Amino acid sequence: MTPTSTRSASRPAPPDGAALPVAAAAATRRAALRLIRLDRRAFALMLLLNSLAAVAGLAGPWLLGRIVDAVRDGAGVPTVDRLALAILVCALAQLLLARYARYTGHRFGERTVARVREQFADRTLALPAATVERAGSGDLTARGTTDVASVARTLRDAVPEVFIAAAQALFLLGAVVVVSPLLGLCGLGLLSGLPAVRWYLRRAHRAYLAEGAATSALAELLAATAAGARTVEALGLQERRRAASEAAIARCRATRTRTLFLRSVLLPAVDVSYLVPVVGVLLAGGVLHGQGPAGVTYVSLGTVVSAALYLRQVSAPLETILFWLEQLQSSGAAFARVEGLGQAPRTTKAAAPALLPHPSPGSAPSPTVPTDDRIDVTAVHYAYDHGHDDVLRGVDLTVRPGERLALVGPSGAGKSTLGRLLAGIDAPRSGSVTVGRVPVAALDPEVLRRQIVLVTQEHHVFLGTVRDNLRLAAPAAEDTALHAALAAVGAEWAGELPDGLDTGLGAGGHRLGGSQSQQLALARVVLADPHTLILDEATALLDPRTARHTERALAAVLRGRTVIAIAHRLHTAHDADRVAVMEGGRLTELGTHDELVAADGAYAALWHSWHGRGPAGQDAPGSARPGSGSGRP
Ligand code: ADP
Repeated sequence: MTPTSTRSASRPAPPDGAALPVAAAAATRRAALRLIRLDRRAFALMLLLNSLAAVAGLAGPWLLGRIVDAVRDGAGVPTVDRLALAILVCALAQLLLARYARYTGHRFGERTVARVREQFADRTLALPAATVERAGSGDLTARGTTDVASVARTLRDAVPEVFIAAAQALFLLGAVVVVSPLLGLCGLGLLSGLPAVRWYLRRAHRAYLAEGAATSALAELLAATAAGARTVEALGLQERRRAASEAAIARCRATRTRTLFLRSVLLPAVDVSYLVPVVGVLLAGGVLHGQGPAGVTYVSLGTVVSAALYLRQVSAPLETILFWLEQLQSSGAAFARVEGLGQAPRTTKAAAPALLPHPSPGSAPSPTVPTDDRIDVTAVHYAYDHGHDDVLRGVDLTVRPGERLALVGPSGAGKSTLGRLLAGIDAPRSGSVTVGRVPVAALDPEVLRRQIVLVTQEHHVFLGTVRDNLRLAAPAAEDTALHAALAAVGAEWAGELPDGLDTGLGAGGHRLGGSQSQQLALARVVLADPHTLILDEATALLDPRTARHTERALAAVLRGRTVIAIAHRLHTAHDADRVAVMEGGRLTELGTHDELVAADGAYAALWHSWHGRGPAGQDAPGSARPGSGSGRP
C-alpha cells in the first residue's frame, strides 16, 4: 500500500526550500571521478588508443611536407610513391586505432550510464515519501528523464569524442612545434578565441542550471494540472492554471534564450580564432622562406606546408570539443541535479539513531525492534515546512493493542497528518511517535510494514505478474500464502486468471477492474500482516459500485488488528472502542462514544449536528452517507 497525499494536484509548486537539492560543483566533480575510477581500466585503454590514433594522424601532413621538399629537390617518382604509400599506411592505422578507441569509449560510456541509472533508481526509491511530496514529482521526473538522458548522451558520445579530439589537437600543436618552433608560435593565434570561451564558461553553468530548473518547474506544473484536471474544472481554476502555465513557459523561454545568446557569442568568435594561426603561418612562412640577408632560408617550403596543414587540421578537433562543450555544460548541470538526489534528506531512516529516545543513565540501550504492539504519541509537534506554523501542537495519545480508535474533528484539524506520523511516513518536529518504544519513522521499511500500514484508496497495480504485485509486501511468501491472501480478501477472480499467479498485470497485460485492484492491494496488507492499520477514510472512500465487495474484503483484513480510523464520517466513530477528537492540531477529547456524548463537549456537538442535520454535518459536506462506510471498524 503506498501512502499518498491526495493534495498534490491542487498544491502550489514547492517553495525553494522544499526542492530537491542540487550537488555543488566540487561534489559533482568528485562524483564524476568516482564513476571514472569504477571503470578505470576501460578509461585508461581509451586514453591510450586515442593517443596512438592521434600520433598516427600526425604522419600525413609531415609526409606531405616531405613530398613537397623532395619534389623541389628533384627527387624521382619512386621516392614520392614511397612517401605516398607511407601516408596511406598511417591513415589506415589511424582509422583502426580511432575505431577501437571509439569502441572502448562507447563501452565505457554505456557501463557508466547504467551505473548512473541504477544509482538514480536506488536513490529515488530510498527517498522518504514526504520528501517526494514536498519536492513535487515533476522535479523528480525531470531529473530521472531529461537529466539522466543528458548525462547518458555525454557519457556515451561526448566523453569519447572529446577525448579523441583533445588528443588530436594536442598532438597536432605539438607536431607544429616539432617541425618548426618558429612557425609553432603561430599556434598561439588559437588563443585569440580564449576570451570568448572564458566569457562563455563563466556564464554557461548557471544559465544551464536555470534552464533545467525552469524545465522542471514547467513539467511539475503541467503534471499537477493534468492530475488535478477535474479539481481545476470543478473550482473554475482554468484561467489561473493557464496563467501559471504561461508564466512557466515564459520562464522556460527566457532561460533558453539566455543559453542561445551565450552560444551565439561564443561560436563566431571561436570560428575566427581557427583561421588566425593558419594565416599567421602562411605570412610568417612566406617571410622566413624568402632569402634572408645572408642568403639563408629559415624554413623549407615543405615545412611551411606541413605546419599550415597541421594548424588547419587543429580546427576539426577543436570544433568537435566546442560542439560538445555545450553538451558538457548542460549535462554538467544535469549531473549536478542527478547527483543532488544523493543529498536529499533521508529524514527518517538515516536519522534513526537521533530519533531514538535518550536512554537514561545505566539503562539498557534503546531497542531497534519494537518490544510490543503499543503505539505512543508523546508531545508531538509537526509542521509541513520549516518556519511554518505547526499543524500538530502537543498531541499525546496511546493506542492500545487490538482497539478500534476513531480520530474525528473538523476538516484541517490535523487528523490525516497524525495518521501520516503514526504510519511512519514522516517524523515529528518534536516529541515522539513510537511503536513498542521504537520511533515509527526510524523503523526499517521491512520492519515497519509488519507493524503499521496506512490504507488509502491508492491501489496501484504495478507492472509485473500477480505474484510480483503481491510479493512487494512479503518478498519471501510462497504461492500458498499468496493464494491464501487472495482468498482472504474474496478475490475469487484470481483463480480464473489465464496464467494464475504468473498472469502479467499493468499496461499491456491483464487489466484489473477497480474492486479487483483494491482487493489486490488489500491482499498485500494481509501478506504484510501488520498488527495495526490506519484507515484514512478521505482517501479510502469506496466506489459505491464496488463497495459491497470491498467492504467484505476490508472487514477480513481488519479482523484481529488494531485499527485507527480517521473518521470523516461520524458513524465510524460511533462504532469504535474509543474516539479521539482533534481540533486545531490538538487532541481535545478522548473516550468512548457514550462518554463523549455525555460529556457534552465538542464531540457531542459534532454528533448532535451530524445526527440532527444528517450526514453532511462533518468535515466533508456531501461525502458522508451512513451505511456506505469503508473503514467501519
Ligand atoms: P484533516 O485530516 O483533519 O482534514 P490535515 O491533517 O489534512 O487535516 O491538515 C492539517 C493542516 O495541515 C491543514 O491546515 C492543511 O492545510 C495542512 N496540510 C495538510 N497537508 C499538507 C501538505 N502536504 N503540505 C502543507 N500543508 C498541509
